Amino acid sequence: MRTEILNLYPRLPVLERPETGEKPLSVEKAVVAGNIAGCAGVNMANKLVLEMLSVTQGREPIYVNHPLTHNDISMQYFIDQGVIVFHNDFSQVPDGASTVFSAHGVTPDHYRIAEEKGLLVFDATCPLVKTQQDKAQRIANSGGTVLLIGAKNHPETESIRGFAEEARPGSVHVIFEESDVHTIPDVKGEHIEIVTQTTLGIYDTRDRIHTIREARPDIEVVARRGNDEEEGDLCYATTNRQESVEKLVLEEGVDSILVVGSQKSHNSKMLAHLGEQLGVPARLINTGGDIQREWFDGVRRVGISGGASAEISLIRHVTDWFTLRGVPIEYQDPVRVEKDGATFAYPEITKRSFDLLRNKYSSEGLTI
Ligand code: SF4
Repeated sequence: MRTEILNLYPRLPVLERPETGEKPLSVEKAVVAGNIAGCAGVNMANKLVLEMLSVTQGREPIYVNHPLTHNDISMQYFIDQGVIVFHNDFSQVPDGASTVFSAHGVTPDHYRIAEEKGLLVFDATCPLVKTQQDKAQRIANSGGTVLLIGAKNHPETESIRGFAEEARPGSVHVIFEESDVHTIPDVKGEHIEIVTQTTLGIYDTRDRIHTIREARPDIEVVARRGNDEEEGDLCYATTNRQESVEKLVLEEGVDSILVVGSQKSHNSKMLAHLGEQLGVPARLINTGGDIQREWFDGVRRVGISGGASAEISLIRHVTDWFTLRGVPIEYQDPVRVEKDGATFAYPEITKRSFDLLRNKYSSEGLTI
């Protein structure tokens, strides 16, 4: 497994040994997915706030717009360290405060407000979300129309929409549901390109693109991700984790799946959704403490996956639940390794803010 950025294990509920006389589990083995847990974007965001905490050492609050990542346990850890979460309401943020934009990205007006208020901006927008914002902006700037496929009210969808709308108002048509395909405006003759949220389901995205093409044969729609036209712009972490779940079902023959991830995490929900699509019951859990023994009556093989915002320590907590019950743990080979060990560098705005923050405290004669 990869190195963990944040060790949350000491904060998790203590796992009790099964009581004497407890009926043994029928589970013969638990198989951990090869591509699992913290992606490069989430790791960058967590590292960024940990470094800010280390510089400020509680001498000033750190404001984060929207939860940094969709992981309740790591977010609570940061709140306990003095981080304050605000939801687009800048009236809660004092002028000049150190402010983090979450991994899901923000709309362009956030950068403007931050400048007006003299905020020190630490931008944790994942570079792969940034790519989507730039793509939408480029299409809108060139006079084209963006068909944006995304989850309703998701901050990433809103951020991508915001960049296109800023370039050219009215240039985006958002497709949340299948029915939205039928309200695509009449834009015949224009350049129309699909942009997707990065964390959608692979099958769902293919279906949605197919429906768009079926419903609107009159328009030529460009949908491109690498060499695969049909997959939209799903990020490597999403596709790798979903393909690993597919392998758990098709190659390992698991008959139950546990996905470590928050109910708020879209990519985690998509992993559970994929398990269900493949005919295997899948449950979303935060920690091993959520597991209920009766889930596994008659189950022989359990697959364990984890969303891109889950920390490795949370996965360990789940495997420990099985180890305490004598279930052997196996680790599946990753579907792809080249990107899953990637790290993302901070953008320039964040580097500048770190310089200013460090100077602020070193000029007070403090050693950081
Ligand atoms: S899931 Fe993908 S887009 Fe989202 S933070 Fe991770 S790498 Fe970036």
